[in-house]
Amino acid sequence: EIKNINKNYFGSYSSFGIHRDMISDKVRTDAYRQAILENPLLLRGAVVMDVGCGTGILSLFAAQAGAARVIAVEASDKMAEVATQIAKENGLLQNRIPGEGGQRDGVIDVVHGMVEELRNTDYIQPHSVDVLISEWMGYCLLYESMLSSVLFARDRWLKPGGAIFPDTATMFVAGFGRGGTSIPFWENVYGFNMSCIGREVVEDAARIPIVDVIDSCNIITTTEVLQSFDLATMQRNEMDFTATVELEPKLDTPSGHSTCSKLEATWCYGIVLWFDTGFTKRFCREKPVNLSTSPYDPSTHWSQTILTFREPIAISSKLKGIGHDAMIGLGGCACVQVHIRSIHGSMEARVKHLSYPISKSP
Ligand code: SAH
Repeated sequence: EIKNINKNYFGSYSSFGIHRDMISDKVRTDAYRQAILENPLLLRGAVVMDVGCGTGILSLFAAQAGAARVIAVEASDKMAEVATQIAKENGLLQNRIPGEGGQRDGVIDVVHGMVEELRNTDYIQPHSVDVLISEWMGYCLLYESMLSSVLFARDRWLKPGGAIFPDTATMFVAGFGRGGTSIPFWENVYGFNMSCIGREVVEDAARIPIVDVIDSCNIITTTEVLQSFDLATMQRNEMDFTATVELEPKLDTPSGHSTCSKLEATWCYGIVLWFDTGFTKRFCREKPVNLSTSPYDPSTHWSQTILTFREPIAISSKLKGIGHDAMIGLGGCACVQVHIRSIHGSMEARVKHLSYPISKSP
């Protein structure tokens, strides 16, 4: 059965549209390109492994950066075939038989198969890779993610102290207001009230996480780190975690100059999750790069992941007009506590409105 699941998974990647979408995501592809090309001290002469090479785009960048050898591993039959052809047609494919074709050898070696099943050969030995590159991130970072395959490859093929691209991943969480739901849209459709649809959409959204773009102006709380991962050292079991964060109302909610009215900032309708991955100065000494999927940054094909509450929670209305001093008096605890559990890439959120001693206000 596992074989079948894998077959479907890798079959879906043989659709070129997905690869086009990933490559066209400029934020994503430029981040990798910059990290690979602008750190020549690390890449020049290096043995690189690209886990899940797809079209081979990251391997091509690595070859361009002066890598001595790039082992491009790809499980999908079709993608391994086209990656081979692409490397060849760009003069970057390594001839395993020296001198064949009379051309200077390229450096890319496309290996067809799951990285977990890769065998030792003359040209690849355990712990011989200098730089491990992979674009493994799924929606909400971990959804259907290939992270465990990357960790497997790291433990088997990377040299001790070798570099991993990216080397950090951080998940963030913030609360959104009414404007982040589809309620306002359905309330007024060419002057007609279609809010019954909006209510149904929100009810459905409360059952499953939704991948969609959220406008940062609809974020009404502080942003907190949900979980951070060190890809160089983390273990597989860290992917399943439980985290609790407290989100405080964002006091600088813009009024007047944005599409969000102040009223919307009083109710929290749910939380939004996103992630950054870092090519940090630990390995990218010359040019560290951060790849962000934040709603405050230009959008990517990952969008954000939205978890809607069954009922909205009032988080800041009581504080309105009390002023900054009162806020300090209250210990800044007029917040929503979100308890998040991630298991095998699925997300579950429980929420609680923390009460605060309103009588203590000066
Ligand atoms: N590196 C490419 C493609 C990223 S998509 C790019 O940046 O554009 C991830 C790719 O990894 C897919 O082509 C998928 O088929 C492949 N893949 C996923 N798990 C794998 C595994 N365990 N071993 C080898 N390839 C894998």
